[in-house]
Amino acid sequence: MALLFRNALVLPMTDPEEGQPMMANVGIESDRIVMIDAAEERDAECSRTADFVARNRESLVEIDATGKVLMPGLINLHTHVAMTLMRSYADDIPLMIWLGEHIWPFEAKLTVDDIALGAQLGMAEMLEGGTTTFADMYWEQATVARVARRMGIRAVVSPCFVDPRMGGFEKDVTESLAEVCDTVSVRIAPHAPYSCSEENLRRGVEVCRELGLPVHTHLAETDDEIRIVRDKYGVSPIELFDRLGYFDFPTIAAHCVKVTDRDMAILRDKQVTVVHNPQSNMKLSSGIAPVWTMMRSGVNVALGTDGASSNNDLDMWDEMRSAALLQKVSSTDPTVLPAYSALRMATADGARALGREGELGIVAEGALADVILVDLSRPHMQPIHDVVSTLVYCGKSSDVEMVVVGGRVIVRGGRVEGLDYQGLYSSVAKRLEELTRR
Ligand SMILES: [Zn+2]
Repeated sequence: MALLFRNALVLPMTDPEEGQPMMANVGIESDRIVMIDAAEERDAECSRTADFVARNRESLVEIDATGKVLMPGLINLHTHVAMTLMRSYADDIPLMIWLGEHIWPFEAKLTVDDIALGAQLGMAEMLEGGTTTFADMYWEQATVARVARRMGIRAVVSPCFVDPRMGGFEKDVTESLAEVCDTVSVRIAPHAPYSCSEENLRRGVEVCRELGLPVHTHLAETDDEIRIVRDKYGVSPIELFDRLGYFDFPTIAAHCVKVTDRDMAILRDKQVTVVHNPQSNMKLSSGIAPVWTMMRSGVNVALGTDGASSNNDLDMWDEMRSAALLQKVSSTDPTVLPAYSALRMATADGARALGREGELGIVAEGALADVILVDLSRPHMQPIHDVVSTLVYCGKSSDVEMVVVGGRVIVRGGRVEGLDYQGLYSSVAKRLEELTRR
């Protein structure tokens, strides 16, 4: 199937510093963007759209994108997607108590079917909001990968180990690797330096080395973590992971709220991507990550929602806005982390973290066709002085009208095509009734 978006306001996100949209027709063939026919070039190049139409006449779907923004799909670089089952289950509690007394006991009761159900709910939420790629961290990641393939979303699954769950970890890695395809890849996930023994952390590095897999972890999230790791190892969490050898592999590290200048230099030199999770950090009172300082010092910073039990949604529009606002609060400087930078964190910088720069997170000829169409016609989006500012400071998940992943239309009219929403909700409700009884 080929797709032609006519008269779209195209936001390419290819410029690292700033950019504004341009009017264009955009053609997609198979899983790639093959044509961006810009209005100012239309006279000279009008034959490009005509050629595209002629070439794809048999299978062409045309979409009138007038008054809508066509931009890259969003990249949510840190989730625990099955945790949607624990959305609003235990709120307003400190991190260590929240984990130890509420989340981990609940999670101990989850079956593979529960994880599949929670994952499906989370993926539906992400897709509706324009997320086309997500990096998950949990167990039973082969199951999450299978749900992702069925739902049509691009997934980076990361089998996770913590001390009580070391047993199933390597089996999960093997099974997840069997699900690898053009939309699924695998990372190794040590949960955090405070939740894994030194022996298990060392085993995790060996697995990376044996299988040549990249890393996805939580680092330097709270003052408690810094204290626990300093007491045990005499270094910061970031220094510890560097010393263990994790940063010899491409690493995405969620949080990095409590970082020293030395930590920042390590993150930059080892090309570790920091995944900023502003709403989770706010909700758990972890603090404000020095995102702008890290970015200015050459660290790649992307964006994630974290799990739905510490956020409590998987809405990347909220995260973009929160990221921008928090930096202004912490620096008392309204010029830091401007709207375009927030948008880059959620698109091109996320792609860079995954080693897919130039292929994902942008709208360009030759890039993968992971694009979204955003409606600008609702009152909260009008009038428009600056499209980028409007998207970041006013945009909502519900403004996303269409989502395309790898050339496939997954969301149309703001809803996931073919998904039985009521069936999903009642299955989740039934499971939760059983879980809270077990
Ligand atoms: Zn997390």
